[in-house]
This record gives sequence, C-alpha cells and structure tokens, in this order.
Amino acid sequence: MKKAVVLGAGYAGLKTVVELQKKCRGQVEITLVDENDYHYEATDLHEVASGNLPASKITFPITDVLDPRMTTLILAHVARVDEEKHLVILDGHAPLEYDYCVFALGFVSETFGIKGAAENSLPMTDVKEAEAIHEHIIKQMEDYRQTKDENDLRIIICGAGFTGIELAGALADARVRYAKLAGVTPDQIKIDIIDASKRLLPMFNDKLADYGIKLLEKLDVNIITEALIQEIQPGVVLYKGANDEEGTPLHKIVGNTIIWTTGVSGSPVVAESHLQERRGRVMDTAHLTAPDHDNLYMIGDVAAVMPPDGKRPYPTTAQIALSMANYVAKDIAARVKGTSRPGAYTYKSLGTVASVGNTRAFGEAGGHSFKGYPASVMKKMIMNKSLMELGGFRELFAKGRFDLYH
Ligand code: NAD
Repeated sequence: MKKAVVLGAGYAGLKTVVELQKKCRGQVEITLVDENDYHYEATDLHEVASGNLPASKITFPITDVLDPRMTTLILAHVARVDEEKHLVILDGHAPLEYDYCVFALGFVSETFGIKGAAENSLPMTDVKEAEAIHEHIIKQMEDYRQTKDENDLRIIICGAGFTGIELAGALADARVRYAKLAGVTPDQIKIDIIDASKRLLPMFNDKLADYGIKLLEKLDVNIITEALIQEIQPGVVLYKGANDEEGTPLHKIVGNTIIWTTGVSGSPVVAESHLQERRGRVMDTAHLTAPDHDNLYMIGDVAAVMPPDGKRPYPTTAQIALSMANYVAKDIAARVKGTSRPGAYTYKSLGTVASVGNTRAFGEAGGHSFKGYPASVMKKMIMNKSLMELGGFRELFAKGRFDLYH
C-alpha cells in the first residue's frame, strides 16, 4: 500500500484528501497533518474579525470529511520535509515516511521587515488572529465609555489588497454595533485604509476597481493611496507620501486598532525544508511538484504556477487551491494505478468577486462584470460551492451562506 502524507487541511490539503479518498480506495494510506482539528474558510476571516460571523460559521471539524478506514489525522506542527529521505519531520511526534507528500501549509502574514509592524499591528491570517481582532475592537469600544479618547474609535487597515478591501466593507457593516458599545453615533467610528499603490485592486479593470472604491467611500471608509508605510508604533502608523520631497517628515495617522493586511507569503516550512523559494513559494513543475522532487507536490499558497503566456504567477486564491488539489489527486491516482499521468496542469479562473459588506460586491466572471446586490449573491454562491466541494451537503447545510437579504 502506498503512503500519501498531506500537510495542511486548508482548501488545497483537505480537497486533496477528499479526492484521494474517492479515487484510491484500498490503494493508498493517507495521513493528514494539521495543527488544528478544524478546517477554516480563509476567504471569510474578515467576517470573524469584524464580528459579523462567529468563528463556528467559517469552520468545521476536519474529521467530518475523513474516511477513518483510509485516513489518519495527526495534530502536530510540521517542522520540515526531508525529500531526500522521504520523511516529514514533526515537532513532538515520530517522523512520517511517505511515497507521495502533498505540501499545502498555506500562508503567513508578510511584514516586509517594516519596523514595528509585527509588534504593533494585528495580522489576520487565521481564525485565532481574526477572533483576536474582534476582541480588540470590542475592548476599544468599551474603553471609550471611560476614556472618551477618539483614538479608541479609529480602526486603521494597512494594505488595500483584496483582504483589506473586504475587511473594510465588513467593518463598515459592523459600525452600528460598535457605536452602540461605545455609546456614540455610527459616524463617530472611523475606518481608514492605507495603501502604497495609486491604482487599487489591480486584478480588476479600471471601471470595476473604481466602482469598488466608490462603494467603500459611500460607506464612509477613508481611503489613503500612494502612502508607503514605513513604521508602526503603538497606536500610530507612519507613512511616506509618493510625491513627498526628500526630507519631508513622515505622515502620521493615529488610532488604537491597527490591522495588517499588506500581503502574505507561503509557509516558512518551505524554507526550513531547503526548497528553492521566493517569499515561501516554490516555482512548480508542470505536475505541480517541486523542481527535481517528483514525489513532493507543492500546492495552494506555497506554489507559484506560471500561466502559459504570463509574466507573473497566478494569484493565490481558494479557487486555484481547489483546482490544484483536484489535479494532484488525479496524478497520484494515476501513478498508484500505473495508468498514464495527466498532462501539464492548466488553470482557468471562473472569475473573481470581492465583497464590500454583506449585500454589496463587485467582480467579473466569464468576461462579464457584476456589481452590487447580484454580485453579492454570486459571491455567496462561490463560497457555497467551495464549501460543498470540501464538506459535501453536511457542511453546506450547516455552514452555507443563505442569508441573502440582510
Ligand atoms: P495583496 O498582496 O493582494 O495586497 C496587499 C496590498 O498592500 C497591496 O495593495 C500593496 O500595495 C499594499 N502594501 C504592501 N506593502 C505596503 C506598505 N508598506 N505600505 C502601504 N501599502 C502596502 O495581499 P492580500 O490582500 O492579503 O491578498 C493576498 C492574496 O490572496 C492575493 O493573491 C489575493 O488575490 C488573494 N485573496 C483572494 C481573495 C478572494 O479571492 N476572495 C480574498 C483575499 C485574498
């Protein structure tokens, strides 16, 4: 019996397990390793950070989708992979031997070495961090009742990529709730989002990006562009304006909640495993393996895959992670069964939709643009589709997004 070890139970890892269980019954013994006993929908962390959804709504127990006859779950931290010896080294657990290893350990927050960012701002890369953001905001609102310090009412988001924009929309939705806690009117809750770029949302055409930005402005989110963050001090963001002359003092924005969403890199375990990487991502072969390591698949946020005629790798999304997992399960099944392996991995995006709160969104699919409420319904359908792909009807009915009207 061949041994497949899957590292990480995010979109990529868990989908690989689900597909291997279907395709390789009786032929493969699967071991899944994760630090947590639950899977979480990383695309909805902003809903937990804002307090619009409880963590239980975006998580489900990993064992719900495991077939115990084929798959064993180990709760442990992966230290590194030794591809020469075909071993996975775990902290506090015996090493695991493998015939095929699927490395899907996801992403971490990227601070780019900016002074004070790690110490003085809140990252949002997993459920615990998202919950910590929500608890922090609640505390500031409650504190305001005593302090009357307006900085308690100010939330600053650093980085207006996909994550920052969706978070700003979710926080704007939560404003009425925060205001009640603080005993103020909703317009007193200030939300700022700061980004180095002039043109936000480069993944969308100009019209759609402008639409998204206007949506946020209508929700009274203050957008500061061409602002390169240089340092974070406790309660203070210091930035340089793109057109500042030499010697201009840094600009300052002050607020007691500072959230860091300036981008992500792949798991640090990639570098620990001595794989050739850039920001934790490995340039995959056509079979989604690490170069020169045909038994080590690298998928999801640790993978860089180049489009056939592209200059930059595909962006890391849940959609591509699920698609990579499908491919890898097919490839492993073919190798185990001795049939011909699938051709080179190809990917076609089904579209991209960004939410701005619960009932507004914008995006494109199949060459068409979608805006407003219809786009928001579409976004929920996309989320339900990935939930269904991973957790089947059981998780879809328990955790699906069907609250379309509020
Ligand atoms: P990102 O890299 O897409 O955006 C980070 C933003 O931070 C950029 O706009 C950048 O200009 C800004 N920035 C970086 N350093 C800065 C600095 N020092 N000062 C000011 N601004 C700075 O990161 P993300 O939004 O976390 O997204 C990560 C990946 O996940 C992307 O590929 C994204 O497409 C994907 N994602 C997808 C979805 C989805 O499909 N639903 C949701 C969230 C994220």
